[in-house]
Formats: sequence, C-alpha cells, structure tokens
Amino acid sequence: METMHFGFRFDNSYARLPKSLFTIVNPAQVREPAIVIFNDNLAKGLGLDTSALKTNLGAAILVGNVIPKESSPLAQAYAGHQFGHFTILGDGRAILLGEQLTPSGKRYDLQFKGSGRTPYSRGGDGKATLGPMLREYLISEAMHGLNIPTTRSLSVCTTGEMVLREEKLPGAVLTRVAKSHLRVGTFQYAATLQTTDELKLLADYAIERHYPNALQEEHKYLGLLREVIRSQAVLVAKWMLVGFIHGVMNTDNVTISGETIDYGPCAFMDIFDPATVFSSIDRQGRYAYANQPMIANWNLARFADSLLPLLDPVEEIAVKLAEDELKQFSNVYDQHYLDGMRRKLGLIGANPEDTSLIRDLLHLMYEHQADYTNTFLALTFARYNQSKLTQSENFESWLQRWKERLSKNPSGPDAVQKIMKTNNPAVIPRNHRVEEALRQAVQNGDLKPLRKLLDVLKDPFAHSGQQREYAKPPDPSATPYRTFCGT
Ligand code: AMP
Ligand code: MG
Repeated sequence: METMHFGFRFDNSYARLPKSLFTIVNPAQVREPAIVIFNDNLAKGLGLDTSALKTNLGAAILVGNVIPKESSPLAQAYAGHQFGHFTILGDGRAILLGEQLTPSGKRYDLQFKGSGRTPYSRGGDGKATLGPMLREYLISEAMHGLNIPTTRSLSVCTTGEMVLREEKLPGAVLTRVAKSHLRVGTFQYAATLQTTDELKLLADYAIERHYPNALQEEHKYLGLLREVIRSQAVLVAKWMLVGFIHGVMNTDNVTISGETIDYGPCAFMDIFDPATVFSSIDRQGRYAYANQPMIANWNLARFADSLLPLLDPVEEIAVKLAEDELKQFSNVYDQHYLDGMRRKLGLIGANPEDTSLIRDLLHLMYEHQADYTNTFLALTFARYNQSKLTQSENFESWLQRWKERLSKNPSGPDAVQKIMKTNNPAVIPRNHRVEEALRQAVQNGDLKPLRKLLDVLKDPFAHSGQQREYAKPPDPSATPYRTFCGT
C-alpha cells in the first residue's frame, strides 16, 4: 500500500543476492496490533515519520499486518555452530522488511522479530513474547548508550494474541534496526552450497556494504576477513570493559558488521567474577565472561573456514593465509582492552607496569567480591568508604601504586577525572532493575519503570543525581540470577 508519508525509503539489495540465500515470505497477520514502546530518536535518525507511525495504521505496519509498498519481505537463510555443533538455521521467527535509506545516506535493515513462521522455523512457532522483546529493546538501547556497536530497537508492539511457552504469554513483535543481518552463519550457510558462486557474491556484498576499503587491497577477501576479525575483536573488548556477558555466542549470533546482536540470555555482571554465567542453558560455562575473547576467536576461525575457497584455490595456501589473519585477533583484542582499561583508570600514555596494576585490581575485586562497575566509580570519585574492597589493607597498597602511576601522567587530576568519567558508566542495566521494569510492564501494563530505566541509561556517562539510585547493586540474594533464551 501507499506508505510514502511514513518516511520509508526502502531498497532490497539482499533480495538481489542468489535465491538460495533467502525465502520471500510475509509476516503473519495478527489480531490486534498495539504499540507498547517506540523509539522516537532512532525513528528520526532513520528519516521515519514518528507521528505517522504512532497511529493504528503505524502499529499495523510495525507488526507486519500492513506491508509498505516498497518492501519485499524475506527470511534469510543461515547456519551456525550452536554451543559448538553445526546446524542449518535461518530466520525462524524474523522477517526482513527492507533496507531503509536514511537522510544521511546510510542503509539500515529493518527486521521484525516474532512475526510468524518461515521455512526456517523448524519446530518453532515463529512467535515472540512481550517480556523478552522489551528486554532486547532495553539492553540494546543501553548498549548504544554505552557506545558499544549494536543492533537497535525501533519498537515493540503487542499482537493481541497469546503465545504458548511454559505458560501463556502476550505475543509481541520487535522491530530491529541493524547495519545488516549478515552473520558468520550466513557465510557458513553459503559455504555448504554446491558451487562457490553464492559465497563469492555474498562476500562481495558484505565488502560493498560494510568494508569497501577492502576493495583497495590486493586480495579483497583476505581484506574482508581482516576487517571482520578486527571489528569483532574491538567489539568483544568493549563488552569486557563494561562487564557484559552475551550469553549465546553461537556463530549465527556473530555479525559481519561488528554489531552486537541477539539479546536473549545476555546480562551485565555485578560482582566481578571471570566465571560468571547467567544463561540457564549454558551449563558448561562455554560463554562465561572470561571465555568471551577466546570464543570470539574460535567463531572467527569458523568464518575463516567458510571463506577458504575464496582465499586461494590451493587449500594449504588458503589455510595459511587464514591462520596468519587469525593471529591478529589477540593483538587487536589485547590492545583495545588494555587501552580501554587505561582510560577507566585514568592512565595516560603507556607504562610497563600498567598491565600488572590492572590485573591486581581485578584480582582484588574478585577476592573481595566487589561490584565491577562501582569499583571504577569509587576510583573515579575517590569514594573509598563504601565497600569491603576499598576499605581493605590490600587495596590501600594498590591505591598507592595507582596514585604513583597517576603522578607520571602529563596532565593533572581534573583531566584524569574527566577521562575516568567518560569511560566508567554511572549506571548499567542491572539485572534486578531490568527484571523489575519488565515485570511491571508485562504483568501490570505499567511502562513507567521501563521508561525511567531507559532514560537513566541513555547517557550512562552523565553521572547525574538520578543515576545514583540506579547504580546500587542488588541485595545479596539467595538465588543467583538466571536468564533464559527468549524463544
Ligand atoms: P536464537 O537463539 O534467537 O539465536 O535463535 C536460534 C535459531 O532458532 C534461529 O534460527 C531462530 O530463528 C530460531 N528460533 C528461535 N525461536 C524461534 C521460534 N519461536 N520459532 C521459530 N524459530 C525460532
Ligand atoms: Mg540468533
């Protein structure tokens, strides 16, 4: 239908790729679409008309009941290593509406999540429920506030239908916005096809869309591999610096663009413990906090595997080329993590003792069960009377070493505090706050706590008065926090 006045300017470049990479499929019709939350700022940036979308017709569009004229909805095929096991997957409950061309000349996928069955649904119903979709909205927007590359959330709508899980829950559709939905798993899927034609076209497409600089290189596919390794290494370093645990780092949840994707069982760590795992299905702790860099490296090796036919016709040469690129992962990761930690501690320049200073602080946090985020805040604002850690003797001697190191900085305390304030968030989406906001929204239809939480998370580096309340860790509770895949 004619939907020009909503501001849609769609292209469908993905639909011009080989047919084996997707299936044309329409979203399911739902009974009673209603907008629960809508992201005005994001909509404006995309060039969408917010007031036109926040109407009944807008809601009908945002659940997929009404398809904009320029759209050609499709589900993408992909594969993936899930907890180490290779499986053919695909968008089982997601449908790509199109690629929005923004006023500033950028291109973003608009994708529904929870919009019904597709040929890739396997046993699933293709549906999503309100709690997990609001959770994705909240955490992805929080990640954006933390300056971490991520898919974004445009809206969550209820469908007026109940979805059967362990109990009946309100059905919902999330509209997700991403630089693209190309995944490591998309390449793994293409690599299973009969010829390398699809793989080649997919790689050319990824280069054009995300890494056009690779075209300048002698070997563009090696350039693509290098860029993806780099952007994932940088991404995971950023996760580690804020204590983010993705929870389900399967290769189908690793983007080529370097954006965080798939907010199922993710959560932020309160008390510093490298072994932290929140996901109920991750019984072995494969995706524990401290394992994330190593797992990212493993996932990138799977990406390299899928690219081998494009790297060189002689397999041994291709493998050697890929291995050389993969060696760069830990260099890039280590450098970004170390630089990030230096900024968190206000350390300007590089000093040989920085690494041990950082390591020893983390060790003290672990020993004294200190809150990760708040320990950095204590250092930023010299608030040492609030935790067991900062009142301990060991900490006192660490503090002296830190101060000694700060004295070697070329700038004074004000400049140092400024760096620390812009690198240590006043607030993260703490699990108890997230749960409370979602509970109020889903059980009581009260969106206020969720909006308030989104508001304090918008600029986590503001260090405002109202953020203080949200910085408080949870009461030490009897049951450890658990997350579940939002299916
Ligand atoms: P995820 O755990 O969200 O990364 O999903 C892994 C795979 O399962 C993807 O192929 C999803 O599309 C699929 N999937 C998850 N939930 C459902 C569902 N309710 N119905 C159909 N497919 C699903
Ligand atoms: Mg996924």
